[in-house]
Amino acid sequence: METTRCRCSCGHVQFNVAKTPLVRLCCHCTICQDFNSAAYADILIYDGAGVEAPPEGRVAYKSYKSKSPILRGKCAKCEDPILEQSVKGPKLWIVPVSALPETAELPNPAAHIYYETRIQDVDDSLPKYTGALKSNLVMMKHLLAAKVFKGRRS
Ligand SMILES: [Zn+2]
Ligand SMILES: [Zn+2]
Repeated sequence: METTRCRCSCGHVQFNVAKTPLVRLCCHCTICQDFNSAAYADILIYDGAGVEAPPEGRVAYKSYKSKSPILRGKCAKCEDPILEQSVKGPKLWIVPVSALPETAELPNPAAHIYYETRIQDVDDSLPKYTGALKSNLVMMKHLLAAKVFKGRRS
């Protein structure tokens, strides 16, 4: 697998991810805003095999909502948001674009989701989805399409 090396700003957390994520999305949900200390999260989603997880203990994982299917991890030292993982259903990893050294070769974001809780309007031509139902459906649709495509290639 061709990989890219991700790291936090202090270098305590470093790990490899597949060169091509399943999908890139901009999420405006309030948890992403809080977790990333940003207006929205520019994130890459990978399947289980797409991320070589960093050593135990370097990432401090936390659930931001009771019964959340996602654990969100910050560097245990510098507290940069660095890696999120699903703990229910098929394994997925989420990596903020800010953890990658290079963004030139990344795909463009596919959409803005949870746009109803945006802090600011985004003036671009990407589709914008509001509400958990539509936002999650869009994410699933892109994930499935990427998985099917990947399966055909290998
Ligand atoms: Zn979000
Ligand atoms: Zn760090």
